[in-house]
Amino acid sequence: MRNTTPNTPSDLFVIGGGINGCGIARDAAGRGLSVTLAEMGDLASATSSASTKLFHGGLRYLEYLEVRLVHEALVEREVLLRAMPHISWPMRFVLPYHKDMRFESETPVSKMLGLAMPWMKGRRPAWLIRMGLFMYDHLGGRKILPGTATLSLKGTKEGAPLQARFERAYEYSDCWVEDSRLVVLNARDAEARGATIMTRTKVTHAQRDGALWRIETEDAETSAKATHYAKMLINAGGPWVGDVIHDKIDLPSREGVRLVRGSHIVTRRLYDHDKCYFFQGSDGRIIFAIPYERDFTLIGTTDAEHENPDRRPVCTPEEQAYLINFANQYFAKAISAEDVVWTYSGVRPLYDDGASSATAATRDYTLKVDATGGAPVLNVFGGKITTYRRLAESALEKIGAHITLKSGPWTAGVAMPGGDFPVDGFDALVQSLNRKYPFLGAVWARRLVRAYGTEAEALLGDATCAADLGRGFGATLTEAEVIWLMRQEFARTAEDVVWRRTKLGLRLSEEEISALDGWMASRRERADAAE
Ligand SMILES: Cc1cc2nc3c(=O)[nH]c(=O)nc-3n(C[C@H](O)[C@H](O)[C@H](O)COP(=O)(O)OP(=O)(O)OC[C@H]3O[C@@H](n4cnc5c(N)ncnc54)[C@H](O)[C@@H]3O)c2cc1C
Repeated sequence: MRNTTPNTPSDLFVIGGGINGCGIARDAAGRGLSVTLAEMGDLASATSSASTKLFHGGLRYLEYLEVRLVHEALVEREVLLRAMPHISWPMRFVLPYHKDMRFESETPVSKMLGLAMPWMKGRRPAWLIRMGLFMYDHLGGRKILPGTATLSLKGTKEGAPLQARFERAYEYSDCWVEDSRLVVLNARDAEARGATIMTRTKVTHAQRDGALWRIETEDAETSAKATHYAKMLINAGGPWVGDVIHDKIDLPSREGVRLVRGSHIVTRRLYDHDKCYFFQGSDGRIIFAIPYERDFTLIGTTDAEHENPDRRPVCTPEEQAYLINFANQYFAKAISAEDVVWTYSGVRPLYDDGASSATAATRDYTLKVDATGGAPVLNVFGGKITTYRRLAESALEKIGAHITLKSGPWTAGVAMPGGDFPVDGFDALVQSLNRKYPFLGAVWARRLVRAYGTEAEALLGDATCAADLGRGFGATLTEAEVIWLMRQEFARTAEDVVWRRTKLGLRLSEEEISALDGWMASRRERADAAE
């Protein structure tokens, strides 16, 4: 770890190892700044592993006239897809249409329509959806992703899982992304470019000390305390952004964050094709049903106010029932609580724009610099996984007003670790890995390429059979992979491995996870003793 003193401060000290903190750290390190990042838990342990996992423009935001956000996000989808074709891929979304579909009545578009055509009040007519999709197709300058199509649902694979009353649908494109892996890859790349990444390290206090920040941290595992110095502080605390402002750095800021919980349920696979569904509810909200981890379906999300960031978000029985009932308005075969194999929940740290409902609060980001009392601090509010790279560029623009940057924006077009292969080269990479390591078989090879891309070979080394990869922990997770995750990807516990670096928690038993945890703990102890 690089030690910072008043004589050798970092340029930046980043609080928060979610997507925004890690994205800013990577961009800044690549421009020659010295960066230290502290994350109190694991990387992506809060909101950035609990999203719907879409690189998307956000079709529904058009109803809120968030055109800037939608435009930026649509353009960004393909920039990101090219940089990480292993952890991100195109998906088609099927939006079944029925004439009873309803708006959330408070959206600007709904209000305008109600004024111009009072008989349409509260309705979401087909022509309006087509208009929205036309904008969605054309705002983002697509080159890779196919445009909108109209589908007949009768007798088709897309119609098969749905109730017969749905006869027509629209289909459009967005992308999937493995959110927690995206965060880790940003952190790794930041580290490779010189940043210091500290996980399980909580910032307990920071105060201005002349032209510098003096930052106090505490190690969550050993309780060891440390002091760091930096020229500028970046508050990317996500749901804790307000807590950092008011309780950790004592800033007299009036900016507020609005915490909105969103929950998902995961069921066994509900249908046999690889497209997603976009369902519109009678309450004007929308949810997605998405093919997930080959054998499962992901359904979400909800919007619920969440008062306290320290209260761990969980999918409440009410939210679970809401999602089940919502999906049952569409699927022919009703699902029930017994079909749910896993749930997860996250808290959106939205900029408080005074919107009436949680659904209506802006999903755009806001960056605020405070330099009134000496050394500057940048507070990050809101944002999407999709716009993290652009958010980081905007942050660097603000940072550049206080610290000289050695170069300009650089991250567009630069591959993430393991993502240096063509955007349509995934299948070829799986085949080539399978040729070199025939013992893997198709399913295992696919999983490894999805996670590690071109780095899968480095992980496997010169193994010629599964036994060469060491102990097996179940579901194709081997000692070699766990060691890779501990050495290269900051993993410390079984939870880091089975719920964030991978989603093998869906396939491993509690006993297997606990055995993995024990093995990792003893390896950690040996490594710590050797240091
Ligand atoms: C249900 C849901 C669905 C979503 N779906 C999508 C989607 O499909 N597509 C999309 O683009 N976006 C989506 N989003 C939005 C996206 O997930 C968030 O905007 C993004 O993850 C926020 O990242 P962040 O880095 O700001 O916050 P976080 O990921 O929460 O990171 C902040 C980090 O700061 C750390 N921290 C806080 N205080 C301290 C301290 N004192 N010391 C050290 N560390 C600290 C926390 O531990 C945390 O890890 C969704 C969000 C939710 C909740």
